[in-house]
Amino acid sequence: MRQKTLDDKIFKEFELIGKDLSNRGLISSHAGNISIRSDENIIITRSGSMLGWLNPEDLVMFNIENSDPENEKCASTESIVHKEIFKSTDAKAIIHSHNPFCTILSFILEEIKCIDLEGKLFLENIPIIECKNPTASPELAKKVSQTLIDNPVVVVKSHGVFAKGMALTDALKNITAAEQSAEIIYRLILLGKH
Ligand SMILES: [Zn+2]
Repeated sequence: MRQKTLDDKIFKEFELIGKDLSNRGLISSHAGNISIRSDENIIITRSGSMLGWLNPEDLVMFNIENSDPENEKCASTESIVHKEIFKSTDAKAIIHSHNPFCTILSFILEEIKCIDLEGKLFLENIPIIECKNPTASPELAKKVSQTLIDNPVVVVKSHGVFAKGMALTDALKNITAAEQSAEIIYRLILLGKH
């Protein structure tokens, strides 16, 4: 019963975060992935799941250290990146989304230097990285995890954003703050003021 209550609580949080990402337009219907670390395990959304419409069966759990091919093959294709982030950084939760304004700026900037108050306060400069294969590749896992050692958020050129946090709400704060900072810069560029 205790386990069930814990599972319900975890699912509820995934459900709320997924819906929020979807409502904010930070993902398309089947994009993005969410994970948390629970002791030696990773709990992550299933491959192909719709974050805005999550069901309890959409959460997959497997051990971070020991290979668990049965469960891992059901997990998000980006679980290779999530695993490496958990191994290399202090992250307890990770969100990957396709923030439109961050992605637009990734084509024209080397990094996003936040100029709004919230961005400057929480994020300062958001790194932008480029990969030959910008999805589910060992190269992506390495570059993203190394960058997130000292940064809460990283933008992958042409793809989207990975953010870490001590909890999913913390990672969401970083994901949404990054998008707000990117949108402000984008609009100022359009106005010829940046
Ligand atoms: Zn993606």
